[in-house]
Amino acid sequence: MTLHQIPNTIKTDSFWMPFTANRQFKKAPRLFSSAEGMHYTTVDGRKVIDGSAGLWCVNAGHGRKQIAAAVERQLMTLDFAPSFQMGHPLAFDFAERLAEIAPKGLDRIFFTNSGSESVDTALKIALAYHRANGQASRTRLIGRERGYHGVGFGGTSVGGMVANRRAFATLLPGVDHIRHTHDLTRNAFAKDQPEHGAELADDLERLVALHGAETIAAVIVEPVPGSTAVLPPPKGYLQRLREICDKHGILLIFDEVITGFGRLGTPFAANFFGVTPDMMTTAKGITNGTIPCGAVFAHRKVHDAMMIGPENVMELFHGYTYSAHPTACAAGIATLDIYKDEGLLTRGASIAEYWRDALHSLKGLPNVIDIRNCGLMGAVELSPRDGAVGARGYDVMVDCFNRGLYFRMSGDSFALSPPLIVEKSHIDDIVSILGDAIKRVA
Ligand code: PMP
Repeated sequence: MTLHQIPNTIKTDSFWMPFTANRQFKKAPRLFSSAEGMHYTTVDGRKVIDGSAGLWCVNAGHGRKQIAAAVERQLMTLDFAPSFQMGHPLAFDFAERLAEIAPKGLDRIFFTNSGSESVDTALKIALAYHRANGQASRTRLIGRERGYHGVGFGGTSVGGMVANRRAFATLLPGVDHIRHTHDLTRNAFAKDQPEHGAELADDLERLVALHGAETIAAVIVEPVPGSTAVLPPPKGYLQRLREICDKHGILLIFDEVITGFGRLGTPFAANFFGVTPDMMTTAKGITNGTIPCGAVFAHRKVHDAMMIGPENVMELFHGYTYSAHPTACAAGIATLDIYKDEGLLTRGASIAEYWRDALHSLKGLPNVIDIRNCGLMGAVELSPRDGAVGARGYDVMVDCFNRGLYFRMSGDSFALSPPLIVEKSHIDDIVSILGDAIKRVA
């Protein structure tokens, strides 16, 4: 295997990398130096196709000059404006533009800087909303096994990725989880949404029976869990979750940090599945991955319920120094312009079928135990080698990287989500490099 060459001028001791096996990585760092369109270039000058839109965020592809120019202009005019009790016009424009593409009613926008902050913000809004409504007993938060909601204490607590939780021992009290829907016995190699598992939404009824609806504030789920390698919801599952929430006055939060901004061939997963949550958390694609930014889309009823009390008292004691940062707003508006001009929020719909068939053509290769797809998301799952979870997946990932394909790995699964500008020829490249690597590593 040809090892990726890095210049020996790069010292790797000081940077403590996030979500990375630091000691292993630093022996043979995989480093990018530039990016354009669908490709990265590595520090040793090789082109690598981007199979995961960075980290599910570079939806319009890399190197968009329009965004760079907007950010530069903004920095030269207004580099920062205080976000509390002061403002700047671009923040209002950006919020209006987001409201225009939001699912019906979800048009009150609270800005953050990341997916993690959006999640913790939405959970806190849920608690504050119930208090404002005279239901202060609703404090319980419910997540789902195998969910990923970022790394804040709220998001880690409602999250359901075992390693992320176990490492920290103590998380928020009053949190429960419903079961995940990944089911290789009934649904392996299902195309699009699996047939079986809608009844798993009834776990929520069991928690209502156990604790009482009057104690439950909100349920948060990713419509399609991404970080646990793309688990499309069984047919009818999200509808059922919505019905149970409605029946018991529980807020439903969709974490659309990955699925937002065109990933499924619709602006949001809420549009794709025809289920409207009470809040949506977003980030990533909101600025095409350029400038850190996130937003909570709250339903008007949630927002309006909190616009009470004396007018000179702030309604929500929450926010960030960099909420609606001018550069983020500039980048975000330029990003929305590109999405609109190039029809990217719906482009996935026209290529999803090709994507699905290409991925499923890998069925039958050695150790492949599942293939999943939904919109322009997809995953290939391998069986672990000798019980060592992630070892075979790691070898395939490194082999792909050395041969010109990057994607996000999760255990022995490969999560794929190319930029929404992807052409059929890129899909062919992705699938052929991945297929060869799977065969070689076997
Ligand atoms: N929620 C979901 C569904 C995510 O996929 C992510 C990031 N992968 C987050 C939240 C956290 O976002 P960030 O890393 O920007 O904090």
